[in-house]
Amino acid sequence: MFEKIIAAPADPILGLTDEFKADPRTHKINLGVGIYKNEAGNTPVLATVKKAEAILLAQETTKSYLSIQGTPEYGLAVQQLLFGADATLIAEKRIQTAQAPGGTGALRVAAEFIKRQLGDVTVWISNPTWANHHGVFGAAGLETKTYGYYNAQVKDIDFDTTIADLSQANAGDVVLFHGCCHNPTGIDPTNQQWQTLAKLCLEKNLLPMFDFAYQGFAQGVEEDAQGLRIFADQMPELLVASSFSKNFGLYNERVGAFTLVANNAEQAIISFSQVKSIARVIYSNPPAHGAAVVTQILNDTVLRAEWELEVAEMRDRIQEMRVLFVATLKQCGVNTDFSFIERQNGMFSFSGLNKDQVNRLKDEFAIYIVGSGRISVAGMTKSNMLPLCKGIAAVL
Ligand code: PLP
Repeated sequence: MFEKIIAAPADPILGLTDEFKADPRTHKINLGVGIYKNEAGNTPVLATVKKAEAILLAQETTKSYLSIQGTPEYGLAVQQLLFGADATLIAEKRIQTAQAPGGTGALRVAAEFIKRQLGDVTVWISNPTWANHHGVFGAAGLETKTYGYYNAQVKDIDFDTTIADLSQANAGDVVLFHGCCHNPTGIDPTNQQWQTLAKLCLEKNLLPMFDFAYQGFAQGVEEDAQGLRIFADQMPELLVASSFSKNFGLYNERVGAFTLVANNAEQAIISFSQVKSIARVIYSNPPAHGAAVVTQILNDTVLRAEWELEVAEMRDRIQEMRVLFVATLKQCGVNTDFSFIERQNGMFSFSGLNKDQVNRLKDEFAIYIVGSGRISVAGMTKSNMLPLCKGIAAVL
């Protein structure tokens, strides 16, 4: 029966990681996958995570199943992180959260919820976007369309095109936004642009959905939620997929959340009952450990403050690498203007390197970059910066 099966193509990003791991060259550099690395090139467990785990280990009494939606403490902590501790929509009980296996799991639940409950609507996704978005929404049988987002000439947001494209959407369609640190461009809308987008969604009756995978990596934990909160102030309904893989360094614990905001408390409960029935048939109930760690940290004043410092440290190191990258390229004789890299947010930027240049970097210099030219700045360190920039200078 299996004879007729043909091999699936390797995942463009995770496949690159496999290639990197298999490369015997010791000077290899990986700017492919979006994993934070410290100055030593490692992805350590956060100190606050270790402390929270010690507390949990001492207190744990059972490994029994969680409920389908996970723990209420986690749900509330996620909501407060997204919308602020005193958010009125929390007080009004217009919001419900389901613990999910990673941001991807949350997106998959969202996709299924949209397909089953909202019907044959189109999901509008920025061009470019995270490589998995079309796959996740497509897997639920949803039609996806793209809206223009990036202007390669000026290396900035192409906001006129964004608005023009989204103006084509039909009432009831879903628009996916990146909460902050847009992946792969590193370019986020300004607050004024968020206002314009919210107004458009309201006028055209579009449902906004936020993919929020990097809260804290742009300007700060609170600051990065501005776009989402601008929407929450105006929209009666919205959806959020949170990931805590990056900002808690909990990549392999698979910790995320699907949050639904409805027009009123009753509607929130009814809609959420459908979310639970979706989770039940996909994974039944969520993994406990990562979410317990996040809850412990967010609900403990001391750990929370320490975690914010750890996030700031990651954010600042990436920003420092952005500045150093631009300066070192200049030092290596590169005349092309790369200053846009300094102005962008989060782990990623579009370097402007083309496929041939990316291939040469891999073959000749053991420098791994995704084919689109997206670079993960988090893979840069002070010690790999010079060989990295020399390699790029050689292929430009
Ligand atoms: N959304 C975006 C924009 C991402 O960049 C990622 C991870 O790279 C995810 C979602 C998925 O997060 P997780 O690893 O928690 O599934």
